[in-house]
Amino acid sequence: MTKDNGQILPNSTIGVFGSGQLGRMFAIEARKMGYRVHTFSPASDTPTGQVADFELEAEYDNLRAVKDFARTVDVVTFEFENVPSETIETAAQFVEVFPRGEVLHTTQNRLREKTFLAKNNFPHTPFCHVKTLEDLHKSVEEIGFPCVLKTAGFGYDGKGQTKINSVADIEKAFANLKNQEAVLEAFVDFEKEVSVVCARDQKGNFAHYGVIENEHANHILDVSFAPAIISENVFREAVEIAREVAETFDYVGTLCVEFFLTKDEKLLINELAPRPHNSGHLTFDACATSQFEQQLRAVCGLSLGSTEFYKPCAMANLLGDLWETSEPNWAKALEFPNVKLHLYGKAEARCGRKMGHLTAMAETSEEAVEVVRKARSALAK
Ligand code: AMP
Repeated sequence: MTKDNGQILPNSTIGVFGSGQLGRMFAIEARKMGYRVHTFSPASDTPTGQVADFELEAEYDNLRAVKDFARTVDVVTFEFENVPSETIETAAQFVEVFPRGEVLHTTQNRLREKTFLAKNNFPHTPFCHVKTLEDLHKSVEEIGFPCVLKTAGFGYDGKGQTKINSVADIEKAFANLKNQEAVLEAFVDFEKEVSVVCARDQKGNFAHYGVIENEHANHILDVSFAPAIISENVFREAVEIAREVAETFDYVGTLCVEFFLTKDEKLLINELAPRPHNSGHLTFDACATSQFEQQLRAVCGLSLGSTEFYKPCAMANLLGDLWETSEPNWAKALEFPNVKLHLYGKAEARCGRKMGHLTAMAETSEEAVEVVRKARSALAK
């Protein structure tokens, strides 16, 4: 159901490429508001498919299936950035896609993303493009030790990354690339990692959830909390950078800008995520409008909702490792009255696989972190 002004209203159908937990939480919000959701991915009984109205199982490069899918929906979005650009371009011949395909094309490849940041003078970690072993030797000389070699495409949660501490590590790091294009980055001795989750609507209005602080373990997000414990100046600068990134892309949807905050209070962009982000999961419980509802509103041409936090909040990821000995003790964690449980419906718990998360609300960020960590520890009892 579309109005003349292009707004896509409840009872319309939203197409989602990708079928993980981000799509699931998006679908929950969309269905709550009376929309239908169709999901497209190469798998079945997926986290998104379990709550969607319709789950199409096909490879992303099956362009005939992409066309058929696009014909059945009123607008398309995506929940993970490794959907091939060609898939999005094909869908866009039939229906609008938000965020736009160009944004996906830029952000799904580290080299293109970093080139975008450099070209537009956004603060970022120094980097070099690496194609050959010779390039890598030259780049290491330019950037210095320690540094990190990352594949340009298909990287997330530290996958495809090798730290280089000395000349002795160079050849092995290059071999790890298996002939893939890469970027070499300076290793940042950061004070903390923070992110700004924000959204921009089709009229260019901007909304943000302030600054979220993120703690990683083994390159995977472990705990996030908001508000971040940072100075006013850092807060203002981080939000301003996120706003400018969104403007530069003429962005529509939810966007996450991940930063390193250095010991001398400089912000450097580490990564952009053109979609709701793990660090914004806490908005689902703690805010008037979640990052997922914001994405829905933006792609449907509606106004953004309030990003007000009811209370400070913390989120702890639940990785498959928790299942190693037995099923986690859900009842114990739920003895904490201000803790919420989110599980993604994944059948198989593998080490490092994101299976769900907990959130806790409290009077301060510190207290929320303490409670959410205690609740997570209780799962092992
Ligand atoms: P990424 O997949 O690039 O976001 O990396 C995952 C995590 O690895 C980051 O959140 C950091 O904790 C760490 N990391 C990645 N790149 C760097 C870097 N250049 N310097 C320091 N830590 C890094």
